Amino acid sequence: MRFGLLGYPLSHSYSPKIHKSFGSWPYELFPVERNDLETFFQNANFTGINVTSPYKKIAMSYCHHLSDSAVKAGCVNTIVRDKNGKLIGYNTDYSGFQYMVKACSIDVRNKKVLILGSGGAAGTVQTVLKELGANTVVISRSGENNYQNLHRHHDAFAIVNATPVGMFPNTMESLVDLHQFPDLVAVLDLIYNPARTKLIMDAEARGLRTTSGLGMLVAQAKESAQYFLQKPISDEKIQEVQMQLEKQTQNIILIGMPGCGKSTIGKCLAECLGRRFIDLDTEIQKELGVEIEAFIRNAGETAFRQIESDIIARYGKMNSLVVATGGGCVTKEENYQYLHQNGCIYWIKRDLDMLPTDGRPLSQKIGLSKLYEAREPLYERFSDHIVHNMDSIQSVVAEIMELEVSL
Ligand code: NAP
Repeated sequence: MRFGLLGYPLSHSYSPKIHKSFGSWPYELFPVERNDLETFFQNANFTGINVTSPYKKIAMSYCHHLSDSAVKAGCVNTIVRDKNGKLIGYNTDYSGFQYMVKACSIDVRNKKVLILGSGGAAGTVQTVLKELGANTVVISRSGENNYQNLHRHHDAFAIVNATPVGMFPNTMESLVDLHQFPDLVAVLDLIYNPARTKLIMDAEARGLRTTSGLGMLVAQAKESAQYFLQKPISDEKIQEVQMQLEKQTQNIILIGMPGCGKSTIGKCLAECLGRRFIDLDTEIQKELGVEIEAFIRNAGETAFRQIESDIIARYGKMNSLVVATGGGCVTKEENYQYLHQNGCIYWIKRDLDMLPTDGRPLSQKIGLSKLYEAREPLYERFSDHIVHNMDSIQSVVAEIMELEVSL
């Protein structure tokens, strides 16, 4: 048995992890350049492969038989070798996107749905949505409906992003301003890295229904694995694998007042979980080349906060980190999206009389009570969970680990 993923370039992919969970393993990456594609199909002895960008359309020509979904969507993302050596092409993105719409709990019948992008995935999305009875409009940079005349579609019910805009590493980009769509109910983004794109976070902020692409990725992989292994896999396994992946990839972010124990707890947590630990104050200090206290004294807090935001943006888009933030990171609203895109945010709460002020310029200058009064609503706003650090570091670490398992 030999499984894998064909595409070019292939950077970091979640597919090997997902297919290991479904039993379609070993699963290799086949980064094949366009000129070598013919040779790949002539010589490769795979049992089954997934196909990704840019080969989903051209790969059809190497298949001896195509499934209905592949014909309807006009591309394949799964190819299986049958017992006679013939290649059968399937499109499992089709059922993956059906799963995504179901997960979003929306009824698109007779509703206007905007599809951003006109590539391979957009074609599959359009096929599924049309079958569900939606009135679809493809927004393309070069089409009749484009980003300059979005006002034509102010009555849109849902938006589906089927472009790479917002994907890692350019995570803070979005193609549309959601304020233009007063009737909007849902936003679906095929992107799964980051876990929440800017578009998804903007939609969350407006209280809309949102779904990111991870469920689709796992659901399409499940159907592929069924073809690879020639056996059924239960639908419940999709959510299980999705949750496992979410837990493994999500950052654990610690916020709270200066001196509340974030760095010590973070280090300990990272050790227990076998993850990389990032202390943002240490990273900022490396960037500044001087102590933070001295920098604030000379350049002022505003200059410091800008550098802090740049560094939060750098680490916030990474995966599987434990991150201890500086106490004042919540004072800049933009830092919320940087941290939230891939993270679960824990507010470490500790009584004020237990907080040290040595070497903490703002705690000394403003006074702890005043500082806390100003920041408490901000910690509240940023945090997903509150953990009290009153007893021991070990008990805080244990509580966070327990919450991570139960999420
Ligand atoms: P693709 O074939 O490269 O097409 C993407 C389309 O996006 C292009 O045709 C283009 O449409 C538009 N686009 C590209 N760059 C853009 C830019 N800078 N600004 C505005 N529009 C831009 O890619 P794809 O295979 O369709 O995949 C699209 C996205 O879906 C990717 O992010 C991919 O990772 C994701 N995806 C996710 C899953 C999943 O399971 N979750 C499955 C498939 C794909 P116009 O030229 O018409 O504007």
